[in-house]
Amino acid sequence: MPELIPTYAEAASVVEEHAKILLNNKPAAEQAPLLASLHRVLAEPILADRDQPPFPRSTRDGFACRASDISVARPLRIIGQLKAGDTWRGAPLASGEAIEIMTGAPVPTGADCVVMVEHIKTAEGGLIIDPGRSLDPGENIVPSGAEAKSGSTIVPVGTRLAASHIAAAAACGYASVRVYARPRVAILATGDELVPVDHTPLTHQIRNSNSYSLAAQITLTGAQPVILPVAPDDETEIESAIGSASGCDLLLLSGGVSMGKYDFVEQALLTLGAEFIFTGAKIQPGRPVVFGKLPQQYFFGLPGNPVSTMVTFLLFAQPLIAALSGETSSPRFALARLAHNVSVKPGLTRFLPASVDFKIDAPEATIIPWQGSGDLASTASANGFAVIPSNVEQLAAGDIVSILLV
Ligand code: AMP
Ligand code: MG
Repeated sequence: MPELIPTYAEAASVVEEHAKILLNNKPAAEQAPLLASLHRVLAEPILADRDQPPFPRSTRDGFACRASDISVARPLRIIGQLKAGDTWRGAPLASGEAIEIMTGAPVPTGADCVVMVEHIKTAEGGLIIDPGRSLDPGENIVPSGAEAKSGSTIVPVGTRLAASHIAAAAACGYASVRVYARPRVAILATGDELVPVDHTPLTHQIRNSNSYSLAAQITLTGAQPVILPVAPDDETEIESAIGSASGCDLLLLSGGVSMGKYDFVEQALLTLGAEFIFTGAKIQPGRPVVFGKLPQQYFFGLPGNPVSTMVTFLLFAQPLIAALSGETSSPRFALARLAHNVSVKPGLTRFLPASVDFKIDAPEATIIPWQGSGDLASTASANGFAVIPSNVEQLAAGDIVSILLV
């Protein structure tokens, strides 16, 4: 019976289903000082502790007055001044009066608009608004509670906190926030040819770069990488190395999942009771990628070629790590115009290293010439991967492609 290899979309949706299952069991939560919570996932909502804004706020430097007074061709009497941090203590503003007001100050009772300072003249009789200019009630004022009502959710649970969320939390008085624990992700590189980064390799040896690329990618997802010692291409040794990852929430293996005589990773996983969810996907790079579940945790067997390892991490491991962190997240794509023609063999969804100029009007992608998925230098100059759908053979300069963002 021919083996059924999923397409990219099928493999991605299988990972998504398992991510959803994981999300039913929320991770442990802990309190983190506000700034230390940046990039962590929120475990309790951030609530407005009072109406936002807490008072009708002037959005301009100008004069608070009544909109109905503006059409009347008589100067308004200036009765005082109000800056941010002050509150009007006089009688409510009456018809024919104006109060000079600064951005961020509370608009006094009786006023229903703010005329911008650019649109007035002050004359002997008081304030004259530029001829022909009219204002509607409410103009240049944000009413109290218009942005958020007291007690309403400003940032929901499951949000990965960005600078804007930190700002909202600070505005609502949160010196610390409740976030989910960071998952621990084990990295197990395999291969007889691998030497540590600080060793001088013999000609036929290579340095272990995948443990580092994966650790960096894991760190960027907000999880904690746990780099295990490299395992040789030996089934028993790989088994015991896998066992040493039992305390981690996810295991990422690199190498040893292809069809070579010394690719023992799948056999070792099988011996340890792994359930295989998919073995291979119709993608390039990364075709041999493996996804499954051990009794202790989920695992991915990522192909050892450095570009394959990075791409399969982004496509499949990252969404699962997000779920282990308490967040729903898919790989991120953007659209760009191709700078040149591209021709590929159809049949696999391709993720080609690309240098993308993310300029404001039309991002433009240049595919980097490469020697295939072992070409580390091509990834080093890529800031994304151009996605060529599996049924496409030719694309022309100017065609729009999706870019997998790193
Ligand atoms: P494999 O997936 O084990 O067949 O390895 C495919 C290619 O990736 C081989 O050329 C390996 O030398 C290379 N490779 C495997 N593991 C690593 C690693 N940890 N760092 C850098 N290159 C690797
Ligand atoms: Mg190998």
